Amino acid sequence: MSTSHQTPSTHVLIVGAGFAGGLAAVRLAGRSRGRVRVTVVNPRPTFVNRLRLHHVAIGRQVPAPSVRTLLGSRVSFLKGWVADLDPDAGHATVSGPDGTRRIGFDRVVLATGSTTEPVPVPGGEHTHGVADLAAAERLRSAFARAAPGSALAVVGGGFTGLETVGELAEARPDVHVRLVTSGEAAGWFSPRAARHVRAGLDRLGVEVVDRARVRAVEHDRLLLDDGAEVPSDLTVWCGGLAAPPLARESGLAVDDAGAAVTDGALRSVSHPQVMAVGDAGHATAPHGGRYSMSCQFAFPSGAHAADVLRDEVLRVTDGAPAPLDLGFQGRCVSVGGRTAVLQLTTRDDVATDKAWTGPGVNAFKRFQVRGVVSAVGFARRVPGAIRWPGADTSRTADVGVAG
Ligand SMILES: Cc1cc2nc3c(=O)[nH]c(=O)nc-3n(C[C@H](O)[C@H](O)[C@H](O)COP(=O)(O)OP(=O)(O)OC[C@H]3O[C@@H](n4cnc5c(N)ncnc54)[C@H](O)[C@@H]3O)c2cc1C
Repeated sequence: MSTSHQTPSTHVLIVGAGFAGGLAAVRLAGRSRGRVRVTVVNPRPTFVNRLRLHHVAIGRQVPAPSVRTLLGSRVSFLKGWVADLDPDAGHATVSGPDGTRRIGFDRVVLATGSTTEPVPVPGGEHTHGVADLAAAERLRSAFARAAPGSALAVVGGGFTGLETVGELAEARPDVHVRLVTSGEAAGWFSPRAARHVRAGLDRLGVEVVDRARVRAVEHDRLLLDDGAEVPSDLTVWCGGLAAPPLARESGLAVDDAGAAVTDGALRSVSHPQVMAVGDAGHATAPHGGRYSMSCQFAFPSGAHAADVLRDEVLRVTDGAPAPLDLGFQGRCVSVGGRTAVLQLTTRDDVATDKAWTGPGVNAFKRFQVRGVVSAVGFARRVPGAIRWPGADTSRTADVGVAG
């Protein structure tokens, strides 16, 4: 561990203080021996734990720790919104409570997360969502007003849809809750795990309408492609997620979802001075597509970006930066508070036939969604300690302990 303080030679701007940006910031500041000045810009002064936004929707109190405290004194925090980024000129325009200012940088890490895409069918204005805090808070008000016996539909059978429908149904057994999905409910899981998930939905009284494609939303119903209708006084859209427009507007190469396309070292393929991490970045996974939008990608990608920048500034390696080597292990999904499944996966994030269920897994899931934020604080105190399976850990040997 180095305690020497040197004049920073490089200024790294990190846009977004979610899981990926927060971890990148504390790890880089903690491991760069004072040679890197790290500034984080985030619109909210408190941390949003997106894993618990469906808990916000059902009215639970979800802790929102101070971003400034989480990042610690080695990182400068600026409350604001990066409205404009010019990677070639090396500056960003930040709008904040004190007005608009221009910030110069040597390198920038895009960690802007994801948000719900505009609902792709007519009537999208009748829907709610859980992808960001403002949407979850709006849903909370609407859900609290839902009359007993009214109909609620969650559209989308992915992980967010499954977890959201479970929480809503558990919180309001007096509301008729449906899960409407174009595929097979829990189809991604191994057969045994899928049975467990479906049994959990059944126990909560969730009616599953699967292989159903929604063609329009009205204020009291969903219209399906096959002409059928599903009653819905309150519709929660858990369909596609996309990156915010900043990457595209900055001229970076982006994919269809607006995520910055990166090489294996997480550098933008069009502007290598920009790195993109978490949901905002599209790095190619071993299966050829992008890594899933998850904490399983957000944390290691944030850590990897920090290590690449640190190695570059400290000239730890002469050659090209090591590519991200992330092996997926499994996914833990819950349907309400009493049904969780830990589905084991291949390194490529494909479900295997092994899955764990039971009280231990329920407890693990509760610990995961609550404890995930403290991982950023832990990484600030012990900046090189967080490792992940499959990673090249040879360069993290000099784990430092920060205050
Ligand atoms: C309801 C729900 C449940 C989920 N459950 C799970 C789960 O069980 N397991 C799992 O692995 N994943 C889960 N996810 C997905 C997971 O939350 C995301 O993959 C993860 O949060 C991505 O982290 P991130 O750091 O990339 O982005 P985020 O956590 O979204 O952080 C991005 C930050 O950037 C800020 N930002 C955006 N634009 C700008 C800008 N222009 N200027 C400044 N700041 C900006 C945002 O305000 C935000 O603070 C869930 C998601 C939801 C919505």
